[in-house]
Amino acid sequence: MKQIPMLINGEWVGNETNEWLPVFNPSNGQQIAEIVRGNKEHVNAAVAAAQVAYERDEWKKVKPFERGQLLINLANHIRENAEQWSKLECEDVGKPISQARADVEAAARYFEFYGGAADKVMGDTIPIEEGILNATVLEPLGVTVHIIPWNYPLQIISRSVAAAIATGNAVIVKSAEDTPLTAHALSEWFAASNLPKGIFQHVTGIGPDVGGPLASHPNIQHVTFTGSLKTGVSVMKAAAENVVPVTLELGGKSPNIVFADANEERALEGVVRAIIQNAGQTCSAGSRLLIEEGYKEEFLSKLTTKFNELTIGPGSEDYDIGPILNKRQYDQIMKKIEVAKSDGKIISGGEAITIDGYEGGFYIQPTIIDGLEHGHSLAQEEIFGPVLTVFPFKDVEEAIRLANSTDYGLVAGIWTQNIDVAHYAASKVKSGQVFINNYGAAGGIQMPFGGYKKSGIGREKGFVALRNYTQIKNIAVKFSI
Ligand code: ADP
Repeated sequence: MKQIPMLINGEWVGNETNEWLPVFNPSNGQQIAEIVRGNKEHVNAAVAAAQVAYERDEWKKVKPFERGQLLINLANHIRENAEQWSKLECEDVGKPISQARADVEAAARYFEFYGGAADKVMGDTIPIEEGILNATVLEPLGVTVHIIPWNYPLQIISRSVAAAIATGNAVIVKSAEDTPLTAHALSEWFAASNLPKGIFQHVTGIGPDVGGPLASHPNIQHVTFTGSLKTGVSVMKAAAENVVPVTLELGGKSPNIVFADANEERALEGVVRAIIQNAGQTCSAGSRLLIEEGYKEEFLSKLTTKFNELTIGPGSEDYDIGPILNKRQYDQIMKKIEVAKSDGKIISGGEAITIDGYEGGFYIQPTIIDGLEHGHSLAQEEIFGPVLTVFPFKDVEEAIRLANSTDYGLVAGIWTQNIDVAHYAASKVKSGQVFINNYGAAGGIQMPFGGYKKSGIGREKGFVALRNYTQIKNIAVKFSI
């Protein structure tokens, strides 16, 4: 069995005295690895090592462009070995291999993008008065913690770790207990690189054992968390005790708003892809279809045809939809589908299926639910599976009202040929990203990503995310002769 140790202070940590936790391949339910069940002592050791590493000249004297070069080397390594990385992610998360390949390319792009940005993080000179030179300097924060969810591990680690290292921090990654493989592969690369020990560390284990102590540790300077709303709130509370800033990405209930004048084929394709990607286990999934009333029956009939054509099966064979992560996730999705059967109407899918030869995996048909009240919990809460809920609207005002009537505000899609309607709706929708006549635009490495309302705090991705990992020092110089 492949054993995955932690990387703490440049050493591999994990031996017979440690407790180990199993890791499964969601496609067939078979165990593929085990991770160390980390604890508070491991967290304390990692934070202490990060503090020392951060302060040492060995890291402080690395020039910004050199930090960038290291990250670009990693990007190149990932690209050169893309198929291996993709297989790892596919096996670990269960996602279709083509989607794993897209994740791997996105990871390479993050390291490349932030590697290129490392020597372009600049402050301002601010006019005060004659005889004073006032400048701001963007300094790293120190020790940054990155708590990672299980659904897009490689991408989500890469986006924040790349930005934090580019700006000169010492990072500690806590990977998700279900999907640690690519985090470990990154650890192996960093351990073999010339990055000083303690600047990249990886701790594994259960959230409350490891993530909690990390978030509440008094000697860290930032937490980046992606995951559930409930855990995000607890991370924020823990960090608040030490006045440590957080960047939170907590999910969504994102609408695709389809007007009757939309380009039908593009809208159909967009709506389908937005909900089936990673079997709907995506925080930015387009999980609500808001459809113009008079167009509803026609659009839904075509959408149902598309749903019925989707293929389901193990990630390695690249069907449209892969397995659900595990039984826990599967049970919570199926429970919601059962509720929909009584409170609404299933117009496509709605059943679990078994795949020959992959009986240990959990597979669910792509499902469309109609007929729910918009206030229903299924319209308000994440389902985190390939399940789309449908609601009609009369006019643009009602579409906007519905779009905005959940606690979340991560992404919105707007499908119309009318430029006035498109821009009007985009200006009124309360979400961190708005896509007009597309959904997701090529991965969006450069686009700020994050949420309004309970979808989170702050933005990841893009140039703006570098600010998460820096603080401003203002230096005023008075001079005279
Ligand atoms: P999910 O319910 O989808 O697994 P979580 O939000 O619980 O999502 O998990 C996301 C990440 O947060 C995982 O790495 C998990 O181990 C970690 N985590 C879980 N509980 C806590 C906690 N109390 N404090 C910090 N991190 C946690």
